[in-house]
Amino acid sequence: MNKPVRGWGGTTWPRWSILVALVVLSLGASYGAYTLAGYSWDQVVSYQSPYTTMSGIDYVGARPNLDVAVPNAEARRVVLIVIDGLRDDASRTMDSINALREQGADVSLTVPQPSLSYPTWTTILTGAPQQISGVTTNWYEGRVPVETLFDVAAGSGRSVAVAGPVDLEALYGVSEVTSATALTEWDDATYMSDDIVDGALALNASSPANFTFVLLPDVDVAGHAYGGASDEYAATVAKIDDDLARLIAGLDDGSTTFVVLPDHGHTDTGGHGGGEAAATATFAAFAGPGVAQTTAEANLEDIAPTVAVIAGLQAPLQGTGTAIDAILADENGSSRDADMVRAAGITLEYIATVLGEDGLADLESIDSPAAFARLRANADAERLAAERSGRLPWLIGAIVALAALLVIVGVRSWRALVASISGAAVYFGLYNALFFLAHDYAWSLSTFNEESQVSAFFNGRMLEAAGCGIIACAVAALVYVALRRQPRGPHSGYLPEWLALGPATILLTQLVLALQVAIFVWQWGASVVWILPNMQDAFKYDLDLIQLTALAAAALLGAGITWAIGRLHPRTRKAASQ
Ligand SMILES: [Zn+2]
Repeated sequence: MNKPVRGWGGTTWPRWSILVALVVLSLGASYGAYTLAGYSWDQVVSYQSPYTTMSGIDYVGARPNLDVAVPNAEARRVVLIVIDGLRDDASRTMDSINALREQGADVSLTVPQPSLSYPTWTTILTGAPQQISGVTTNWYEGRVPVETLFDVAAGSGRSVAVAGPVDLEALYGVSEVTSATALTEWDDATYMSDDIVDGALALNASSPANFTFVLLPDVDVAGHAYGGASDEYAATVAKIDDDLARLIAGLDDGSTTFVVLPDHGHTDTGGHGGGEAAATATFAAFAGPGVAQTTAEANLEDIAPTVAVIAGLQAPLQGTGTAIDAILADENGSSRDADMVRAAGITLEYIATVLGEDGLADLESIDSPAAFARLRANADAERLAAERSGRLPWLIGAIVALAALLVIVGVRSWRALVASISGAAVYFGLYNALFFLAHDYAWSLSTFNEESQVSAFFNGRMLEAAGCGIIACAVAALVYVALRRQPRGPHSGYLPEWLALGPATILLTQLVLALQVAIFVWQWGASVVWILPNMQDAFKYDLDLIQLTALAAAALLGAGITWAIGRLHPRTRKAASQ
Protein backbone atom coordinates (compact mmCIF):
# COMPACT_ATOMS: atom_id res chain seq x y z
CA MET A 1 0.00 0.00 0.00
CA ASN A 2 1.22 3.39 -0.96
CA LYS A 3 -1.05 5.53 1.13
CA PRO A 4 0.41 9.04 1.43
CA VAL A 5 1.55 9.63 5.00
CA ARG A 6 1.34 12.93 6.82
CA GLY A 7 4.80 14.42 7.10
CA TRP A 8 5.88 17.66 8.77
CA GLY A 9 3.04 20.10 8.27
CA GLY A 10 0.82 17.37 6.96
CA THR A 11 1.14 17.59 3.20
CA THR A 12 1.95 14.98 0.60
CA TRP A 13 4.77 17.08 -0.75
CA PRO A 14 7.59 15.07 -2.33
CA ARG A 15 9.09 14.48 1.06
CA TRP A 16 12.34 12.91 -0.03
CA SER A 17 13.22 16.00 -2.03
CA ILE A 18 13.48 18.05 1.16
CA LEU A 19 16.05 15.66 2.54
CA VAL A 20 18.01 15.78 -0.70
CA ALA A 21 17.82 19.58 -0.86
CA LEU A 22 19.06 19.97 2.73
CA VAL A 23 22.01 17.65 2.17
CA VAL A 24 22.93 19.27 -1.15
CA LEU A 25 22.74 22.78 0.37
CA SER A 26 24.89 21.71 3.30
CA LEU A 27 27.53 20.16 1.05
CA GLY A 28 27.44 23.26 -1.16
CA ALA A 29 27.93 25.55 1.85
CA SER A 30 30.85 23.38 2.92
CA TYR A 31 32.54 23.48 -0.47
CA GLY A 32 32.00 27.23 -0.80
CA ALA A 33 33.46 27.85 2.65
CA TYR A 34 36.46 25.63 1.91
CA THR A 35 37.18 27.56 -1.28
CA LEU A 36 36.72 30.94 0.41
CA ALA A 37 38.94 29.95 3.36
CA GLY A 38 41.83 29.08 1.04
CA TYR A 39 41.34 32.22 -1.00
CA SER A 40 41.17 34.51 2.04
CA TRP A 41 44.21 32.99 3.74
CA ASP A 42 46.18 33.47 0.54
CA GLN A 43 44.95 37.05 0.24
CA VAL A 44 46.60 37.98 3.55
CA VAL A 45 49.76 35.88 3.13
CA SER A 46 50.37 37.00 -0.48
CA TYR A 47 49.17 40.58 0.01
CA GLN A 48 50.69 42.91 -2.57
CA SER A 49 51.00 46.34 -0.99
CA PRO A 50 49.97 49.17 -3.34
CA TYR A 51 52.05 51.59 -1.26
CA THR A 52 55.63 50.39 -1.78
CA THR A 53 56.41 52.94 -4.46
CA MET A 54 55.12 55.91 -2.45
CA SER A 55 57.69 58.72 -2.29
CA GLY A 56 55.57 61.76 -1.46
CA ILE A 57 57.48 63.81 -4.02
CA ASP A 58 54.33 64.85 -5.88
CA TYR A 59 53.26 66.69 -2.74
CA VAL A 60 56.40 67.95 -1.01
CA GLY A 61 58.97 67.82 -3.78
CA ALA A 62 61.77 65.36 -4.27
CA ARG A 63 63.75 64.36 -1.21
CA PRO A 64 67.42 65.38 -1.61
CA ASN A 65 69.66 62.55 -2.78
CA LEU A 66 70.80 60.44 0.15
CA ASP A 67 74.42 61.43 -0.48
CA VAL A 68 73.48 65.05 0.20
CA ALA A 69 73.97 65.51 3.94
CA VAL A 70 71.00 66.72 5.99
CA PRO A 71 71.83 70.41 6.64
CA ASN A 72 73.51 71.10 9.98
CA ALA A 73 73.00 67.52 11.15
CA GLU A 74 75.58 65.78 13.31
CA ALA A 75 76.39 62.29 11.95
CA ARG A 76 75.98 60.42 15.24
CA ARG A 77 77.01 56.83 15.66
CA VAL A 78 74.00 54.64 16.49
CA VAL A 79 73.74 50.99 17.59
CA LEU A 80 70.25 49.51 17.12
CA ILE A 81 69.67 46.20 18.88
CA VAL A 82 66.52 44.09 18.46
CA ILE A 83 65.88 41.29 20.96
CA ASP A 84 63.36 38.99 19.30
CA GLY A 85 60.33 38.19 21.46
CA LEU A 86 61.47 40.00 24.65
CA ARG A 87 58.52 40.88 26.88
CA ASP A 88 58.37 44.24 28.59
CA ASP A 89 58.19 42.68 32.07
CA ALA A 90 61.19 40.45 31.37
CA SER A 91 63.18 43.44 30.09
CA ARG A 92 62.68 45.13 33.48
CA THR A 93 64.77 42.35 35.03
CA MET A 94 67.73 43.14 32.75
CA ASP A 95 70.48 45.33 34.23
CA SER A 96 71.81 46.21 30.77
CA ILE A 97 68.49 47.64 29.58
CA ASN A 98 67.60 49.27 32.90
CA ALA A 99 70.92 51.13 32.78
CA LEU A 100 70.00 52.56 29.36
CA ARG A 101 66.57 53.57 30.66
CA GLU A 102 68.05 55.35 33.66
CA GLN A 103 70.47 57.22 31.50
CA GLY A 104 68.06 58.02 28.66
CA ALA A 105 64.51 57.38 27.50
CA ASP A 106 62.09 54.63 28.47
CA VAL A 107 59.49 54.43 25.68
CA SER A 108 56.27 52.37 25.80
CA LEU A 109 55.59 51.00 22.33
CA THR A 110 52.56 49.60 20.55
CA VAL A 111 53.30 46.94 17.92
CA PRO A 112 51.14 46.81 14.76
CA GLN A 113 49.28 43.63 13.71
CA PRO A 114 50.06 40.88 12.99
CA SER A 115 52.79 40.84 15.67
CA LEU A 116 54.96 38.30 13.83
CA SER A 117 58.73 38.61 13.44
CA TYR A 118 59.30 39.35 9.75
CA PRO A 119 56.55 41.98 9.69
CA THR A 120 57.74 43.68 12.89
CA TRP A 121 61.48 43.57 12.06
CA THR A 122 60.45 45.28 8.84
CA THR A 123 58.45 47.91 10.71
CA ILE A 124 61.43 48.64 12.98
CA LEU A 125 63.75 49.06 9.98
CA THR A 126 61.36 50.98 7.71
CA GLY A 127 58.85 52.85 9.89
CA ALA A 128 56.16 51.21 7.75
CA PRO A 129 53.41 48.94 9.10
CA GLN A 130 52.52 45.61 7.48
CA GLN A 131 49.88 47.16 5.23
CA ILE A 132 52.49 49.42 3.61
CA SER A 133 55.60 47.19 3.62
CA GLY A 134 53.56 44.24 2.34
CA VAL A 135 55.29 41.93 4.84
CA THR A 136 52.28 40.34 6.54
CA THR A 137 53.62 36.97 7.74
CA ASN A 138 56.84 35.00 8.24
CA TRP A 139 56.14 33.27 4.94
CA TYR A 140 57.12 36.46 3.15
CA GLU A 141 59.55 35.67 0.34
CA GLY A 142 62.04 37.91 -1.37
CA ARG A 143 63.43 41.37 -0.70
CA VAL A 144 61.33 43.83 1.28
CA PRO A 145 60.29 46.43 -1.31
CA VAL A 146 60.37 49.56 0.89
CA GLU A 147 63.37 51.61 1.99
CA THR A 148 65.17 50.53 5.19
CA LEU A 149 67.53 52.18 7.66
CA PHE A 150 70.27 50.13 5.96
CA ASP A 151 69.42 51.77 2.64
CA VAL A 152 69.45 55.32 4.01
CA ALA A 153 72.57 54.83 6.17
CA ALA A 154 74.58 53.13 3.43
CA GLY A 155 73.16 55.49 0.78
CA SER A 156 74.34 58.41 2.87
CA GLY A 157 77.87 57.06 2.87
CA ARG A 158 77.84 55.77 6.45
CA SER A 159 79.60 52.55 7.33
CA VAL A 160 77.00 49.96 8.34
CA ALA A 161 77.57 46.72 10.28
CA VAL A 162 74.89 44.04 10.62
CA ALA A 163 74.98 40.97 12.87
CA GLY A 164 72.10 38.51 13.23
CA PRO A 165 70.38 35.52 11.67
CA VAL A 166 70.63 34.87 7.91
CA ASP A 167 67.00 35.92 7.45
CA LEU A 168 68.32 39.49 7.34
CA GLU A 169 70.02 38.65 4.04
CA ALA A 170 66.87 37.27 2.39
CA LEU A 171 64.66 40.12 3.57
CA TYR A 172 66.92 43.15 3.31
CA GLY A 173 69.88 42.03 1.19
CA VAL A 174 72.20 43.27 3.93
CA SER A 175 75.39 41.96 2.37
CA GLU A 176 74.67 44.01 -0.76
CA VAL A 177 73.67 47.28 0.88
CA THR A 178 75.85 47.41 3.98
CA SER A 179 79.57 47.56 4.64
CA ALA A 180 79.98 44.47 6.84
CA THR A 181 77.85 41.57 7.95
CA ALA A 182 78.12 38.67 10.40
CA LEU A 183 75.21 36.36 9.69
CA THR A 184 74.34 33.22 11.65
CA GLU A 185 72.30 30.21 10.52
CA TRP A 186 69.07 30.03 12.55
CA ASP A 187 69.29 27.07 14.92
CA ASP A 188 66.59 26.56 17.55
CA ALA A 189 68.67 23.95 19.37
CA THR A 190 71.69 26.18 20.07
CA TYR A 191 72.07 29.51 21.85
CA MET A 192 73.02 31.88 19.01
CA SER A 193 73.29 35.32 20.61
CA ASP A 194 76.82 34.87 22.00
CA ASP A 195 78.13 34.22 18.48
CA ILE A 196 76.10 37.10 17.08
CA VAL A 197 77.48 39.46 19.73
CA ASP A 198 81.00 38.20 18.97
CA GLY A 199 80.30 38.90 15.29
CA ALA A 200 79.05 42.43 15.98
CA LEU A 201 82.10 43.19 18.13
CA ALA A 202 84.46 41.78 15.51
CA LEU A 203 82.85 43.89 12.76
CA ASN A 204 83.48 46.99 14.86
CA ALA A 205 86.94 46.00 16.10
CA SER A 206 89.18 47.51 13.44
CA SER A 207 87.02 50.48 12.45
CA PRO A 208 83.81 51.21 14.34
CA ALA A 209 80.78 51.27 12.03
CA ASN A 210 78.71 54.44 12.00
CA PHE A 211 75.46 52.44 12.15
CA THR A 212 75.33 48.98 13.69
CA PHE A 213 72.27 46.71 13.71
CA VAL A 214 72.20 43.57 15.86
CA LEU A 215 69.34 41.05 16.07
CA LEU A 216 69.42 38.57 18.98
CA PRO A 217 66.99 35.67 18.38
CA ASP A 218 67.22 33.38 21.42
CA VAL A 219 64.57 34.85 23.73
CA ASP A 220 61.96 34.22 21.04
CA VAL A 221 63.09 30.61 20.69
CA ALA A 222 62.71 30.12 24.46
CA GLY A 223 59.30 31.81 24.36
CA HIS A 224 58.06 29.40 21.71
CA ALA A 225 59.53 26.37 23.44
CA TYR A 226 58.53 27.11 27.05
CA GLY A 227 56.24 30.20 27.17
CA GLY A 228 56.85 33.83 28.11
CA ALA A 229 56.16 33.19 31.80
CA SER A 230 58.46 30.17 32.12
CA ASP A 231 61.69 29.77 34.09
CA GLU A 232 63.46 28.72 30.90
CA TYR A 233 62.42 31.98 29.25
CA ALA A 234 63.69 33.95 32.25
CA ALA A 235 66.97 32.01 32.14
CA THR A 236 67.48 32.90 28.47
CA VAL A 237 66.65 36.53 29.24
CA ALA A 238 69.37 36.50 31.93
CA LYS A 239 71.84 35.06 29.43
CA ILE A 240 70.93 37.72 26.87
CA ASP A 241 71.38 40.34 29.60
CA ASP A 242 75.02 39.30 29.94
CA ASP A 243 75.63 39.24 26.19
CA LEU A 244 73.88 42.59 25.73
CA ALA A 245 76.02 44.12 28.49
CA ARG A 246 79.10 42.73 26.73
CA LEU A 247 77.94 44.18 23.39
CA ILE A 248 77.20 47.63 24.82
CA ALA A 249 80.48 47.74 26.76
CA GLY A 250 82.38 46.69 23.64
CA LEU A 251 80.79 49.31 21.38
CA ASP A 252 80.41 52.25 23.77
CA ASP A 253 82.98 54.93 22.95
CA GLY A 254 81.19 57.66 24.91
CA SER A 255 79.68 59.20 21.77
CA THR A 256 77.41 56.36 20.64
CA THR A 257 73.63 56.24 20.98
CA PHE A 258 72.15 52.85 21.87
CA VAL A 259 68.60 51.80 21.03
CA VAL A 260 67.34 48.45 22.36
CA LEU A 261 63.87 47.05 21.72
CA PRO A 262 62.02 43.81 20.94
CA ASP A 263 60.11 43.18 17.72
CA HIS A 264 57.16 41.87 19.78
CA GLY A 265 56.54 40.15 23.12
CA HIS A 266 55.28 36.65 23.96
CA THR A 267 52.18 35.27 25.65
CA ASP A 268 52.57 33.45 28.98
CA THR A 269 52.20 30.10 27.24
CA GLY A 270 54.33 31.09 24.24
CA GLY A 271 53.18 32.56 20.96
CA HIS A 272 52.65 35.96 19.38
CA GLY A 273 51.11 37.38 16.26
CA GLY A 274 47.84 38.52 17.82
CA GLY A 275 46.81 41.66 19.66
CA GLU A 276 47.42 40.51 23.27
CA ALA A 277 49.18 43.09 25.45
CA ALA A 278 51.94 40.53 26.18
CA ALA A 279 52.71 40.46 22.43
CA THR A 280 52.03 44.06 21.40
CA ALA A 281 52.70 46.32 24.43
CA THR A 282 56.47 46.53 24.31
CA PHE A 283 59.23 49.06 24.92
CA ALA A 284 62.28 50.77 23.52
CA ALA A 285 65.24 51.99 25.58
CA PHE A 286 67.27 54.89 24.14
CA ALA A 287 70.48 56.24 25.64
CA GLY A 288 73.34 58.42 24.40
CA PRO A 289 73.89 61.66 22.45
CA GLY A 290 70.68 63.20 21.10
CA VAL A 291 68.43 61.42 23.63
CA ALA A 292 66.56 63.21 26.41
CA GLN A 293 66.18 61.64 29.85
CA THR A 294 62.46 60.96 29.90
CA THR A 295 59.60 58.54 29.34
CA ALA A 296 57.24 58.52 26.35
CA GLU A 297 54.61 56.53 24.46
CA ALA A 298 54.95 55.77 20.76
CA ASN A 299 54.34 53.22 18.02
CA LEU A 300 56.80 50.72 16.58
CA GLU A 301 56.54 52.69 13.29
CA ASP A 302 58.17 55.67 15.05
CA ILE A 303 61.46 53.87 15.77
CA ALA A 304 63.05 54.17 12.31
CA PRO A 305 62.37 57.92 11.95
CA THR A 306 63.59 58.53 15.52
CA VAL A 307 66.81 56.61 14.88
CA ALA A 308 67.25 58.56 11.63
CA VAL A 309 66.88 61.95 13.31
CA ILE A 310 69.30 61.00 16.10
CA ALA A 311 71.77 59.73 13.49
CA GLY A 312 71.33 62.80 11.27
CA LEU A 313 69.97 60.75 8.37
CA GLN A 314 66.95 61.00 6.11
CA ALA A 315 64.31 58.61 7.45
CA PRO A 316 63.28 55.62 5.29
CA LEU A 317 60.93 56.92 2.64
CA GLN A 318 57.68 54.97 3.04
CA GLY A 319 57.48 54.99 6.86
CA THR A 320 54.26 56.31 8.34
CA GLY A 321 55.81 56.86 11.77
CA THR A 322 57.49 60.09 12.81
CA ALA A 323 60.37 60.88 15.15
CA ILE A 324 59.35 60.71 18.83
CA ASP A 325 59.75 64.40 19.73
CA ALA A 326 59.48 63.76 23.47
CA ILE A 327 62.72 61.80 23.62
CA LEU A 328 64.81 63.97 21.30
CA ALA A 329 67.35 66.13 23.14
CA ASP A 330 67.66 68.24 19.99
CA GLU A 331 66.38 68.36 16.41
CA ASN A 332 69.84 67.46 15.08
CA GLY A 333 70.05 70.33 12.61
CA SER A 334 67.37 69.93 9.93
CA SER A 335 66.94 66.19 10.59
CA ARG A 336 63.68 66.46 12.49
CA ASP A 337 62.19 68.94 9.98
CA ALA A 338 63.29 66.71 7.09
CA ASP A 339 61.39 63.84 8.72
CA MET A 340 58.24 65.95 9.12
CA VAL A 341 58.36 66.93 5.43
CA ARG A 342 58.90 63.29 4.41
CA ALA A 343 56.04 62.07 6.63
CA ALA A 344 53.72 64.79 5.28
CA GLY A 345 54.48 63.74 1.69
CA ILE A 346 53.87 60.06 2.50
CA THR A 347 50.61 60.87 4.28
CA LEU A 348 49.36 62.89 1.31
CA GLU A 349 50.36 60.17 -1.14
CA TYR A 350 48.74 57.51 1.06
CA ILE A 351 45.48 59.45 1.02
CA ALA A 352 45.73 59.94 -2.73
CA THR A 353 46.30 56.18 -3.18
CA VAL A 354 43.34 55.29 -0.96
CA LEU A 355 40.83 57.96 -2.05
CA GLY A 356 42.22 59.41 -5.25
CA GLU A 357 43.27 63.03 -5.65
CA ASP A 358 39.79 64.20 -4.64
CA GLY A 359 40.44 63.06 -1.11
CA LEU A 360 43.18 65.68 -0.78
CA ALA A 361 40.82 68.67 -0.79
CA ASP A 362 41.32 70.03 2.72
CA LEU A 363 44.87 69.12 3.66
CA GLU A 364 46.52 72.52 4.00
CA SER A 365 46.95 72.48 7.74
CA ILE A 366 48.99 69.41 8.64
CA ASP A 367 50.98 70.43 11.67
CA SER A 368 51.65 67.44 13.88
CA PRO A 369 52.33 63.69 13.71
CA ALA A 370 48.93 63.17 15.31
CA ALA A 371 47.38 64.94 12.32
CA PHE A 372 49.16 62.56 9.91
CA ALA A 373 47.73 59.50 11.65
CA ARG A 374 44.27 61.06 11.92
CA LEU A 375 44.17 61.99 8.22
CA ARG A 376 45.21 58.48 7.17
CA ALA A 377 42.59 56.95 9.48
CA ASN A 378 39.92 59.27 8.06
CA ALA A 379 40.85 58.24 4.51
CA ASP A 380 40.61 54.54 5.49
CA ALA A 381 37.22 55.13 7.13
CA GLU A 382 35.88 57.00 4.10
CA ARG A 383 36.85 54.29 1.59
CA LEU A 384 35.67 51.49 3.88
CA ALA A 385 32.30 53.20 4.32
CA ALA A 386 31.87 53.49 0.55
CA GLU A 387 32.86 49.84 -0.03
CA ARG A 388 30.61 48.62 2.78
CA SER A 389 27.57 50.34 1.37
CA GLY A 390 28.36 48.73 -2.00
CA ARG A 391 28.49 45.28 -0.37
CA LEU A 392 25.38 45.78 1.77
CA PRO A 393 23.04 43.95 -0.66
CA TRP A 394 25.10 40.77 -0.17
CA LEU A 395 24.76 41.01 3.59
CA ILE A 396 21.03 41.56 3.27
CA GLY A 397 20.88 38.57 0.91
CA ALA A 398 22.53 36.38 3.55
CA ILE A 399 20.07 37.51 6.20
CA VAL A 400 17.14 36.83 3.86
CA ALA A 401 18.48 33.33 3.09
CA LEU A 402 18.67 32.51 6.79
CA ALA A 403 15.17 33.85 7.39
CA ALA A 404 13.84 31.91 4.39
CA LEU A 405 15.21 28.61 5.70
CA LEU A 406 13.61 29.24 9.08
CA VAL A 407 10.27 29.99 7.41
CA ILE A 408 10.44 26.92 5.14
CA VAL A 409 11.22 24.53 7.99
CA GLY A 410 8.76 26.31 10.29
CA VAL A 411 5.89 26.08 7.81
CA ARG A 412 6.52 22.37 7.34
CA SER A 413 6.73 21.72 11.07
CA TRP A 414 7.12 24.20 13.92
CA ARG A 415 8.36 21.34 16.10
CA ALA A 416 11.11 20.53 13.62
CA LEU A 417 12.04 24.22 13.62
CA VAL A 418 12.23 24.39 17.42
CA ALA A 419 14.21 21.12 17.44
CA SER A 420 16.70 22.42 14.81
CA ILE A 421 17.16 25.73 16.60
CA SER A 422 17.75 23.88 19.89
CA GLY A 423 20.35 21.67 18.18
CA ALA A 424 22.08 24.66 16.60
CA ALA A 425 22.14 26.48 19.95
CA VAL A 426 23.76 23.43 21.56
CA TYR A 427 26.29 23.38 18.72
CA PHE A 428 27.41 26.96 19.33
CA GLY A 429 27.45 26.53 23.09
CA LEU A 430 29.50 23.36 22.89
CA TYR A 431 31.93 24.44 20.17
CA ASN A 432 32.68 27.73 21.90
CA ALA A 433 32.96 26.12 25.34
CA LEU A 434 35.61 23.81 23.91
CA PHE A 435 37.38 26.66 22.12
CA PHE A 436 37.40 29.32 24.83
CA LEU A 437 37.11 27.31 28.07
CA ALA A 438 38.53 23.83 27.52
CA HIS A 439 41.41 24.92 25.24
CA ASP A 440 41.69 28.50 26.51
CA TYR A 441 42.06 29.70 22.90
CA ALA A 442 41.37 33.19 21.59
CA TRP A 443 40.67 34.67 18.16
CA SER A 444 44.34 35.46 17.75
CA LEU A 445 47.34 34.41 15.69
CA SER A 446 49.13 33.88 19.01
CA THR A 447 46.90 30.83 19.51
CA PHE A 448 49.24 28.66 17.53
CA ASN A 449 52.62 28.98 19.09
CA GLU A 450 54.57 27.91 16.03
CA GLU A 451 53.87 27.91 12.33
CA SER A 452 54.17 24.12 12.25
CA GLN A 453 51.08 23.98 14.48
CA VAL A 454 48.80 25.85 12.09
CA SER A 455 47.40 22.88 10.20
CA ALA A 456 47.05 20.75 13.35
CA PHE A 457 45.16 23.64 14.97
CA PHE A 458 42.72 23.98 12.09
CA ASN A 459 42.30 20.19 11.77
CA GLY A 460 41.48 20.02 15.48
CA ARG A 461 38.81 22.71 15.12
CA MET A 462 37.32 20.85 12.13
CA LEU A 463 37.06 17.62 14.12
CA GLU A 464 35.45 19.44 17.03
CA ALA A 465 33.01 21.23 14.71
CA ALA A 466 31.96 17.91 13.16
CA GLY A 467 31.63 16.29 16.61
CA CYS A 468 29.62 19.19 18.03
CA GLY A 469 27.42 19.03 14.90
CA ILE A 470 26.62 15.37 15.51
CA ILE A 471 25.71 16.10 19.14
CA ALA A 472 23.54 18.98 17.89
CA CYS A 473 21.64 16.53 15.67
CA ALA A 474 21.08 14.18 18.61
CA VAL A 475 19.78 17.09 20.70
CA ALA A 476 17.43 18.13 17.88
CA ALA A 477 16.00 14.61 17.70
CA LEU A 478 15.49 14.44 21.48
CA VAL A 479 13.81 17.85 21.51
CA TYR A 480 11.52 16.78 18.69
CA VAL A 481 10.47 13.68 20.58
CA ALA A 482 9.86 15.74 23.70
CA LEU A 483 7.62 18.16 21.81
CA ARG A 484 5.06 15.52 20.73
CA ARG A 485 2.59 13.86 22.99
CA GLN A 486 2.70 10.74 20.83
CA PRO A 487 5.83 11.00 18.69
CA ARG A 488 6.01 8.68 15.71
CA GLY A 489 9.31 7.25 14.56
CA PRO A 490 10.73 6.64 11.10
CA HIS A 491 9.24 3.14 11.12
CA SER A 492 5.74 4.67 11.29
CA GLY A 493 6.02 6.19 7.82
CA TYR A 494 8.14 9.23 8.73
CA LEU A 495 11.48 8.00 7.41
CA PRO A 496 12.41 11.01 5.20
CA GLU A 497 11.41 13.46 7.95
CA TRP A 498 13.54 11.78 10.59
CA LEU A 499 16.45 11.57 8.18
CA ALA A 500 16.00 15.25 7.28
CA LEU A 501 16.00 16.53 10.85
CA GLY A 502 19.79 16.08 11.19
CA PRO A 503 20.75 17.87 7.95
CA ALA A 504 18.18 20.61 8.74
CA THR A 505 19.86 21.21 12.09
CA ILE A 506 23.30 21.31 10.47
CA LEU A 507 22.20 23.58 7.63
CA LEU A 508 20.69 25.99 10.14
CA THR A 509 24.00 25.99 12.04
CA GLN A 510 25.89 26.56 8.79
CA LEU A 511 23.65 29.46 7.85
CA VAL A 512 24.27 31.16 11.20
CA LEU A 513 28.00 30.78 10.51
CA ALA A 514 27.50 31.98 6.94
CA LEU A 515 25.79 35.07 8.32
CA GLN A 516 28.88 35.81 10.43
CA VAL A 517 31.08 35.24 7.37
CA ALA A 518 28.85 37.62 5.40
CA ILE A 519 29.26 40.29 8.09
CA PHE A 520 33.06 39.98 7.86
CA VAL A 521 33.03 40.13 4.05
CA TRP A 522 30.73 43.14 4.23
CA GLN A 523 33.15 44.88 6.62
CA TRP A 524 36.48 44.01 4.97
CA GLY A 525 35.86 42.38 1.59
CA ALA A 526 37.15 38.97 0.57
CA SER A 527 40.13 40.40 -1.34
CA VAL A 528 42.91 42.24 0.46
CA VAL A 529 44.00 44.98 -1.93
CA TRP A 530 44.47 48.20 0.04
CA ILE A 531 43.77 47.63 3.74
CA LEU A 532 44.47 44.68 6.03
CA PRO A 533 41.38 43.50 7.89
CA ASN A 534 41.22 43.68 11.65
CA MET A 535 43.26 40.57 12.51
CA GLN A 536 40.99 39.39 15.33
CA ASP A 537 37.97 39.59 13.01
CA ALA A 538 39.96 37.81 10.30
CA PHE A 539 40.91 34.99 12.65
CA LYS A 540 37.29 34.47 13.68
CA TYR A 541 36.29 34.59 9.99
CA ASP A 542 38.76 31.82 9.14
CA LEU A 543 37.44 29.70 12.00
CA ASP A 544 33.84 30.27 10.89
CA LEU A 545 34.78 29.06 7.40
CA ILE A 546 36.57 26.04 8.86
CA GLN A 547 33.46 25.10 10.86
CA LEU A 548 31.24 25.60 7.83
CA THR A 549 33.47 23.21 5.91
CA ALA A 550 33.61 20.51 8.57
CA LEU A 551 29.87 20.57 9.22
CA ALA A 552 29.10 18.82 5.91
CA ALA A 553 30.34 15.62 7.55
CA ALA A 554 27.91 16.21 10.41
CA ALA A 555 25.05 16.71 7.92
CA LEU A 556 25.69 13.28 6.41
CA LEU A 557 26.21 11.50 9.74
CA GLY A 558 23.50 13.56 11.42
CA ALA A 559 20.81 12.06 9.18
CA GLY A 560 21.71 8.68 10.63
CA ILE A 561 21.76 10.06 14.18
CA THR A 562 18.28 11.59 14.02
CA TRP A 563 16.95 8.45 12.28
CA ALA A 564 18.44 6.21 14.98
CA ILE A 565 17.03 8.29 17.83
CA GLY A 566 13.63 8.32 16.11
CA ARG A 567 13.86 4.56 15.73
CA LEU A 568 15.12 3.67 19.20
CA HIS A 569 13.68 6.29 21.55
CA PRO A 570 11.33 4.59 24.06
CA ARG A 571 8.53 7.07 23.37
CA THR A 572 8.48 6.53 19.60
CA ARG A 573 8.57 2.77 20.18
CA LYS A 574 5.65 3.08 22.54
CA ALA A 575 3.71 5.17 19.99
CA ALA A 576 4.46 2.57 17.33
CA SER A 577 3.15 -0.26 19.45
CA GLN A 578 -0.17 1.48 20.07
ZN1 LIG B 1 58.51 34.17 17.41
